[in-house]
Amino acid sequence: MIRRASLLAAAAAVWGVAAWFLWRTTVPSSLHLPHVDEHGFFTAAQLHAAASFSRVEDILFWGTTLLQIAALAAFARWGARWARESAAGPVGTGMLLGMLGFALVWVVQLPLEVVDLWWQRRHDLSKVGYTSFLFGDWFSLAGQFVFLCLALAIVMGLARRFRSTWWIWAAPPFIGLTLLFAFVSPYLVTTHPLHSARLRAIASRLEVQEGVGHVPIEVQDIHDVTSLPNSEATGLGPSRRVIIFDTMLDGRFTTGELKVVIGHELGHLARHHIWKDVGWYALFAFPGLFLIAQVTKLRGGLREPAAVPLALLALVVLDLFALPLQNAISRHMEAEADWRALVTTRDPKDAIALFRRFVPTTLDEPNPSTWDYVMLENHPTIVQRIAMAEAYATSAAQSP
Ligand SMILES: [Zn+2]
Repeated sequence: MIRRASLLAAAAAVWGVAAWFLWRTTVPSSLHLPHVDEHGFFTAAQLHAAASFSRVEDILFWGTTLLQIAALAAFARWGARWARESAAGPVGTGMLLGMLGFALVWVVQLPLEVVDLWWQRRHDLSKVGYTSFLFGDWFSLAGQFVFLCLALAIVMGLARRFRSTWWIWAAPPFIGLTLLFAFVSPYLVTTHPLHSARLRAIASRLEVQEGVGHVPIEVQDIHDVTSLPNSEATGLGPSRRVIIFDTMLDGRFTTGELKVVIGHELGHLARHHIWKDVGWYALFAFPGLFLIAQVTKLRGGLREPAAVPLALLALVVLDLFALPLQNAISRHMEAEADWRALVTTRDPKDAIALFRRFVPTTLDEPNPSTWDYVMLENHPTIVQRIAMAEAYATSAAQSP
């Protein structure tokens, strides 16, 4: 018993130290963010449009989440009876139940997803047709399906082999898969090199300032799917790149604003945020799998296929509870990427212009409610991003 307690204390200490390292940031702790009033930056019409769009999106998020949980709760309650009638062997039956649960969730949330598509089309944010929405995305659906089966084969195989300590053995393969996916994900999207020689020259200068080495800047043609402007830093080592949606290059954003975008993405890579993402995943994988192992004991543990529906329910509920923490971690890294963009471009004016332009182009609320902030915002709010640019301008003006 004492040995167990000291093991647990040692594990908690390792966890805490690792979290401390991952949380470190180059944003000065002395930085004081001034109060920013959104009415000074946005018209009443812009604020109204963003608020009314977001209200429905919020309802759809909660509706989808609750439906998903209700469907999986019903499946956990009654779904296990199919397990006894299957002749596929325990792991095969577990995978079969997993696929059933997956299909159930897909069917249950489909109506609200169609409503969401309608709402986004109505605001010219989505360009996806209803037919291609229903029948066009089989590739990603098949990918999720295969991943679910693989995940179940791993956890059930290990649960049968190691009994109650399977969760310790299951974490490393999932962390390995996450690492692998972080490496290959840039190769899964079709892109082409950035044409603009001016932006390429700006990117080269920013690369030198950040000391990140050469990072290809690629463009993803996405204007026939969405009008939303976006960009991302992806990949690890040789697969690293910055991907900019072509919707950012359609004339709505100035060269100065795009310079801030590239500075932000290179900031993510300079501060190793993709590695840190994997690191945080690893830190959550152990306690998450431990909790799933405890919950599924109610159905004889995950070596029994009858426990699979309950495991799916536990996973979805845990994800929901972890969401505020995940968002806080993401916001922390996004704030650092914004800070890197300010330090390397030394251009708070264009940063503020960029953040302002996000409100009419994305219909994001510049200053959402606390509830929204906690559950749904994985970036600092637009008001916070403007405040950081103002704080940078003040500190730059004060230093010689
Ligand atoms: Zn970012």
